[in-house]
Amino acid sequence: MSLISLSAGEHLKNNINKKKIEMALSKLLTFNNPKNHLEQYPTDPSTAAYLVFMAAMDGNIEGKKILDAGAGTGVLSFSALMLGADEVVAVEIDREQLMVLEENLRKFSNIRIVIGNISDVEERFDTAICNPPFGAVIRDSDLPFLDIIFRNCKNIYLLHNYKNRDFILEYAKKRGRVLREEKITISIPRMYSHHTKNYEKLDCILIWAESSS
Ligand code: SAH
Repeated sequence: MSLISLSAGEHLKNNINKKKIEMALSKLLTFNNPKNHLEQYPTDPSTAAYLVFMAAMDGNIEGKKILDAGAGTGVLSFSALMLGADEVVAVEIDREQLMVLEENLRKFSNIRIVIGNISDVEERFDTAICNPPFGAVIRDSDLPFLDIIFRNCKNIYLLHNYKNRDFILEYAKKRGRVLREEKITISIPRMYSHHTKNYEKLDCILIWAESSS
């Protein structure tokens, strides 16, 4: 039986565990002509699988309509689709990633890839999965992401720089409630000229919030 022919509700029971997702993610294409100003960094397979697996355990992936905000190469979308999302909309501003997204997600039919600005998203979703730009290169480039996911999505899974923890928690509390908060360390591969090591470690905050809108 193929992974995607399972019906909603069967995915977790059928042992689609975190390790299987990580293995599948590690085979996907990475960024095409990556752009520093868009903070294009792929979430490493372990973190991506963890974020979406947690969301699935909370009951917020199977059978749900999901927004992958700032989809990049589609690792979060892929994980959600593996775990039985009803529909995933992957929004990415960089047209040069369209081919990567199409290739990486081609085995799924319930995916919609939208090349456009996150600010223009008007649809509503059950769940947002989001590793946005952190606003490190262009100040406040994370804000449109926060606005849209808290306005249009009920459950929000967001990864952000731990440096911004207070701001993120404050923001989330104003627009709903924070149901879980966790500090995790991610690895960032050497991608741009300002990187000096093969991998850099970065402390991040991972939150699960429920919006009141
Ligand atoms: N979510 C992916 C990519 C993270 S990098 C992953 O977890 O691997 C952040 C992504 O947001 C980049 O691909 C970048 O091009 C995209 N992005 C930046 N600004 C955007 C905007 N205004 N609207 C939509 N996508 C944007």
